[in-house]
This record gives sequence, C-alpha cells and structure tokens, in this order.
Amino acid sequence: KGPDPDIPAIVENLSNIKHKILVLSGKGGVGKSTFTTLLSWALSTDEDLQVGAMDLDICGPSLPHMLGCSDEVVHESSTGWTPVYVADNLATISIQFMLPEDDSAIIWRGSKKNQLIKKFLKDVDWDRLDYLVVDTPPGTSDEHISISKYMKESGIDGALVVTTPQEVALLDVRKEIDFCRKAGIAVLGLVENMSGFVCPNCKGESQIFKPTTGGGKALCDELGIRFLGSVPLDPRIGRTSDQGESFLDNYPDSPASSAILDVVEAL
Ligand code: ADP
Repeated sequence: KGPDPDIPAIVENLSNIKHKILVLSGKGGVGKSTFTTLLSWALSTDEDLQVGAMDLDICGPSLPHMLGCSDEVVHESSTGWTPVYVADNLATISIQFMLPEDDSAIIWRGSKKNQLIKKFLKDVDWDRLDYLVVDTPPGTSDEHISISKYMKESGIDGALVVTTPQEVALLDVRKEIDFCRKAGIAVLGLVENMSGFVCPNCKGESQIFKPTTGGGKALCDELGIRFLGSVPLDPRIGRTSDQGESFLDNYPDSPASSAILDVVEAL
C-alpha cells in the first residue's frame, strides 16, 4: 500500500492552525469530552486566541451539547464545511450536527468512520486557529490510529490524557500512553478528573474512587510524563455541561475553576 492520497490535503487544511492537541482517555466516562469543552472555553477567554473544538468521538459525539449549540447545522460552501461558532473566537464541528435526529445511532464499520475523520480534517474551513482541541473516542481503536497518523503528519503538539483516580481507569491510561509512544505522539501530560469531592454542606472532602489521592501523579512519576493537575468532582460541572454553558463563566471563583485554569496554564 502506498501513502494515503488524502494526506497532502489534510496537511494543507490544517496548516493555518498553530497548536493541535488531542484529548485522550483510556476509559469512557472519565470526563474527556467535558475536559475538551472546559479547555476550549478556558482558551477562548483570551479574546486574542481563535479556538476550534473538533469532535471525533464519532459514536458518542457530545461537544455540541456541552457547548450549547446542538440545534445548529453545518453549512457547506466552496471552501468546505463551515464550523459552528459558539462565540466569536470559539468554533466547533461534530458529526452530531449532521445526524437526522439527535438520538440517531452511528453504526458504522471502521472504513466509513475513517472516511469521516479524513473529511473532518480535510474539509472543515477553520480559517486561522491558534488552538485546535480534538476530542477522540475512548481507548485505542482503529479511529485512534487514523487520527494520530493524520494529525502527526500535520504537526501535532501532542496528547493530553484524562483519567479518574480509580485504579481501573489508571490501568487503561497506561495503555493509552503506550499507544502514544508507539504512534509517535508526544504526551503533553495527564489530568486527573473527578479527583476528590468537597461536600457543599459540611465542606468535608471525600475521595470518591479511592481512599487515598495521588494515583495520577504517582503514575506520571513512574512513566516519566507530566502531571498537569487534578480537577475535583463538582456537580455544577455536570449541570452546566448539560445546559451547554461554560462552568468557568458561571462559577469563576470555585476551586474547580481554579484547578481547571491551573491545568491549562501548565499545558
Ligand atoms: P467521557 O468523554 O470521558 O466519556 P464525559 O465528559 O462525557 O466523559 O463525562 C462523563 C460524565 O461525568 C458527564 O455526565 C459529565 O458531566 C460528568 N463529569 C465530568 N467531569 C466532571 C467533574 N469534574 N465533576 C462532575 N461531573 C463531571
């Protein structure tokens, strides 16, 4: 098999994007899409930055809902697909915008998913972007092989890995990091999400998943990757995300907002 004939068009289309970041997780449900959204909101609070959030979690697309734009449609023009603008400097694209019904299931085999991934990378007209944040499916599937191959050709900064403190999540993170190493993608760092819960009534902190903290940090030390920080479990993150609103704008003074901004700062 020769080189993929679509690669030059992908590289060309992504050439006006300064930073490209993949958001990965070993398991589903650890907050990967939530973190992709929070990262995108956080970056776009700087009005001088143009930010794009691309949803490549084809079977479980959730960025439009979390960014509050799920009723929008994507238009196609001579320059490609125009992403949906959530703010002047924040745009997004997702297969969710193309589905006939919100709850239509995507039952596609690998090759069809691969075609769509290519189309998103090649035909979305982002114009100029400072950051493209890419949400991916959980695990290390065929889609990851395609996404990382095309993004690597286009000069990706690297991957940010999201986990919870739970042992089963950490186990899968090891596989994710091994995948990045084999695929030649730099690991920018690890974020531990849902790390501790402060009860709003008694103000006491509980560790939901483990009796002790520090699993993510210990794993980073062991594997020689950067620990970017922990984001606590805060029910308002889930609520604002369900309402398609920015948690950071709604609760700027919360410990979770500071934690999220610290992670973004550490990136
Ligand atoms: P993934 O993309 O890894 O499958 P999601 O981002 O969809 O996971 O998150 C799973 C669920 O957990 C969602 O309901 C989300 O609102 C919630 N969630 C994620 N992070 C937090 C957090 N730090 N605090 C509270 N709820 C969270």
